[in-house]
Amino acid sequence: MPEPTLFELSQPGKRCVELPESDLPELESGWIASEQLRDEPPGLPRVTEPEIARHFAHLATKNFNVDANFYPLGSCTMKYNPKANEEIAASPQWSRLHPETPEEHVQGAMRLMHELECWLAEILGLPAVSLHSPAGAAGEFTALRVFRACHESRGDARARVIVPDTAHGTNPASVTRCGYESTNIASNERGRIDLDEIADALDEDVAALMLTNPNTLGLFETDVLEISRMVHDVGGFVYCDGANLNAIMGYARPGEMGFDAVHVNLHKTFSTPHGGGGPGAGPVAVTAELEPFLPIPRLVEREGRIVWDRDRPQSIGTVHSFFGNFLVLVRAWAYILAMGAEGLRRASSDAVLNANYLMRALEGRWELPYPGPCMHEFVLSAESIRKETGLRAADFAKRLLDFGIHPPTMYFPIIVDEALMIEPTETESLRTLDRFIEVMLRLADEAESDPERLSDAPTRTSVGRVDEVKAARDLILRWSEDS
Ligand SMILES: *Cc1c(COP(=O)(O)O)cnc(C)c1O
Repeated sequence: MPEPTLFELSQPGKRCVELPESDLPELESGWIASEQLRDEPPGLPRVTEPEIARHFAHLATKNFNVDANFYPLGSCTMKYNPKANEEIAASPQWSRLHPETPEEHVQGAMRLMHELECWLAEILGLPAVSLHSPAGAAGEFTALRVFRACHESRGDARARVIVPDTAHGTNPASVTRCGYESTNIASNERGRIDLDEIADALDEDVAALMLTNPNTLGLFETDVLEISRMVHDVGGFVYCDGANLNAIMGYARPGEMGFDAVHVNLHKTFSTPHGGGGPGAGPVAVTAELEPFLPIPRLVEREGRIVWDRDRPQSIGTVHSFFGNFLVLVRAWAYILAMGAEGLRRASSDAVLNANYLMRALEGRWELPYPGPCMHEFVLSAESIRKETGLRAADFAKRLLDFGIHPPTMYFPIIVDEALMIEPTETESLRTLDRFIEVMLRLADEAESDPERLSDAPTRTSVGRVDEVKAARDLILRWSEDS
């Protein structure tokens, strides 16, 4: 049954809290400009507190979430995160801190951030880390500005950044936001960057090349050392989109692959639930050469104390108020501390093992355009099924919902037609993986035996299939009494 909106539950005269009659004098007129005052009350729903509580409890039970359901959402690393880290981040010693508290009173929090910087530097193989960027895309943007500032400090203005066609959409967006032009290069038939394409695109106007390793096909870029050498030869920087570090963490370090800068998504790999749009943290690590350009303030250790250093004339400035999303940093710190070096390594190997297990079980029945072995994710295609039956990747994604499984990432990377990008993550059990395999094989059978099942799906969810054509043509963006 659809849950009524609070507006539909509203009845005149109902209310949540009764406040006593105010005995304060009325404000003198003129305090608030008359054109800023409402003529009428804002029309909020009139409901009681239990009605509100139940409304949201009902909605919560209809919600798909990672505590209740499996999320094979490629590139997003929607894994289960330990509740202990939530509890640590929620404890008042961290959650009630005010960002303006004097440094000497919050040495614990400052040390936590300092340690996290040091640990990320170790994990990434680059000496300097800034924690401020609040998302992966913001990390990319920060690093590109650092590249620009470094080039400009040498009087070397450059205009272009090379981005492969497998890159996450945030890469070209960050390039454009930073005032560069992006040059798109095609992957080869092995799903890797093509060295000849790079050679053709490279000249002294190239500020940087952005590379995702493993790339968004879930494949390791094996020519990464050669690629970074080629870019460095023309004076450009090499950027690693490290959003999906759970494939290599503990095994390989971007700093040793020739990268000058990398961002990681703490809200993917390091224990902050990822979804609902934030908050996140996309710390950036850079070489010693680029360190002077990192955002301010920088954390430094002086005479046994951790202090903020703002006196950094070459810095690109601030990228976030204060120092980023602190409670995300607390979770990452607690996660790394609990896992230890061995645990982080194990997380990577489990993520890769789980993905390969699924890929091998599905490849006979589903089209796998780029054969593995894969890293933490792989991409299937529903293109051959579409040609035979007209069914599309979206139909399978919606049918998965009937089995309580979240749809995979679809239609990305764009070089795969009807793409279904699957990332099981390291936190799933063999039992969950086996069930997913069973369901995916069943879906492939249904495409032949019972295609309507797929084109009508989902039928077991609280909201059925949306009429997408109507939704696009006749979009209703707000509730009104007669809609
Ligand atoms: C998630 C992701 C990003 C963007 O991160 P946001 O925090 O969503 O901005 C960039 N690149 C890759 C490969 C990603 O998976």
